[in-house]
Amino acid sequence: MNIHGHDLYKLVEELYPICRSITGNGVRQTLKALESHIPLSIQEVPTGTPAFDWRVPKEWNIHDAYIKNMSGERIIDFHHSNLHVMSYSVPVKGTLPLAELKAHLYTLPEHPDWIPYRTSYHNEQWGFCLTHQQFLGLHDEEYEVCIDSTLEDGSLTYGEYYLKGQVVDEVLISCHICHPSLCNDNLSGIAVATFLAKYLATRERRYSYRFVFLPGTIGPITWLARNEDRVHKIKHGLVLALLGDSGAITYKRSRQGLAEIDRIVCQVLQQFSDRHTVVDFSPYGYDERQYCSPGFNLPVGSLMRTPNGRFPEYHTSADNLEFVKPASLADSWEKCRMILETLEGNKIYLNQNPKCEPQLGRRGLYRAISGQAERAQHEMAMFWVLNLSDGQHSLLDIAERADIPFMTIKDAADRLEAHQLLKEVSTEVS
Ligand code: ZN
Repeated sequence: MNIHGHDLYKLVEELYPICRSITGNGVRQTLKALESHIPLSIQEVPTGTPAFDWRVPKEWNIHDAYIKNMSGERIIDFHHSNLHVMSYSVPVKGTLPLAELKAHLYTLPEHPDWIPYRTSYHNEQWGFCLTHQQFLGLHDEEYEVCIDSTLEDGSLTYGEYYLKGQVVDEVLISCHICHPSLCNDNLSGIAVATFLAKYLATRERRYSYRFVFLPGTIGPITWLARNEDRVHKIKHGLVLALLGDSGAITYKRSRQGLAEIDRIVCQVLQQFSDRHTVVDFSPYGYDERQYCSPGFNLPVGSLMRTPNGRFPEYHTSADNLEFVKPASLADSWEKCRMILETLEGNKIYLNQNPKCEPQLGRRGLYRAISGQAERAQHEMAMFWVLNLSDGQHSLLDIAERADIPFMTIKDAADRLEAHQLLKEVSTEVS
């Protein structure tokens, strides 16, 4: 399967106009669009359902919103940008003077052409977000405001895609789907996750994979509360977000810090010549906060490019279709694919000829590769694999200790296995 940045970008483009929030039809419409790529199990969790210290909130939907001047012109129009309305605004209709209206207006004076993204999930209020230029154009007169929204009992919606593998052990891939027209912050992660799922569906899998597409914070909290009895199956996980900007890759370790996923991501990123950053876990960011809360402490790291809050376009209308690049999306996807391939290939073997070195030359394994430097590394990889394959060390352990790229170690193991010099230590099959 060949994935091009253009395929990922097309999905971002398709999802961009939808007005999403933590609940409501925007989330349903988004999941429906993903269903043309992967079959999803869509769950609806009723308002009021308890989830640990939280409750599923009321469902929010919006049809229209505007500010009209006295000539009846819509000077702020929800249909121009869904960012104009503070997410979860309660309905409002009336006329009020500028002085009163100002208390409900949000702008970014430092970026006068951008609309900020604001939410108010937990306080029932209303607000408009506008460019600072638009704000400066307001006159001391009366304005007609309308937010035609509903905030009432309904449900929280999320989607799940489970791919069964040879073992019950699971890899969790999670992304948030609750931001309106913002590309890097939410759509890039959704696109990369969707195309990873599509790719994995076509290949043989050792692990089972669980993809979850859910609203930030309340989504994973609700999901964890409903799946507490089976989260022990999650052996590795990644939260995907902010994967479409031009910045370098950033990996944030899981709370465990040295989990297999943490070591694998570092191993993979080192194999690419471009710059990357690895940072330690911190309890702020995306949904790793919930997966890595002390009561779960799951080995879930977070893969991004430029981290949240570290680029000026973050949570503004400038996080748009120009800000994300097909090449960055493709690069993020490829790195995720390599991470999962490495995870799949990280097995433990047992040397079948452990008493002294086997005679490799007789088997055509020694001096078999032309190109001296490459040959030397491949032969060194074989020696390391033979020596450390005592049923205790994984290929990742060997790659780290030998300081040889994982894929070279894996190639060596494959060749030795083909010559019956190695045998995989079997993992529990479901
Ligand atoms: Zn965000």
